[in-house]
Amino acid sequence: MSDCLFCKIIAGEIPSKKVYEDALCYAFYDIDPQAPTHFLVVPKAHIPSAAHISTENEAVVGHIFSVIAALAKELGFAEQGYRVVSNIGEQGQQTVPHLHFHVLAGRDMTWPPG
Ligand code: 5GP
Ligand code: ZN
Repeated sequence: MSDCLFCKIIAGEIPSKKVYEDALCYAFYDIDPQAPTHFLVVPKAHIPSAAHISTENEAVVGHIFSVIAALAKELGFAEQGYRVVSNIGEQGQQTVPHLHFHVLAGRDMTWPPG
């Protein structure tokens, strides 16, 4: 998707602060962090949102969650806990239409989210 912000970040056309990368996904720090640690994990393939996950592309989601669990250990916030969020569509407050999982850590989270 040539006009997709996160596809451009994955391609290196827009700079980002990389956390992790492999063949299937890319993780980078959010430009407007909402917690002491806040990064995004995205599939390299363009999937518009979590509402567009099907049997054809579901494997990447499991992979991303295993990457997040490993990063949480590596970056040292696995023990105290953290939050993984994917906003979907207009009322879900999704602003970038490329599937992404927010990983937030380093403070007490609130529930329910606003
Ligand atoms: P959403 O609102 O779609 O759930 O999340 C999109 C996230 O992308 C927001 O937290 C926003 O701060 C982040 N974001 C938007 N543009 C950029 C950018 O150019 N670089 C980075 N690193 N993050 C961005
Ligand atoms: Zn994209």
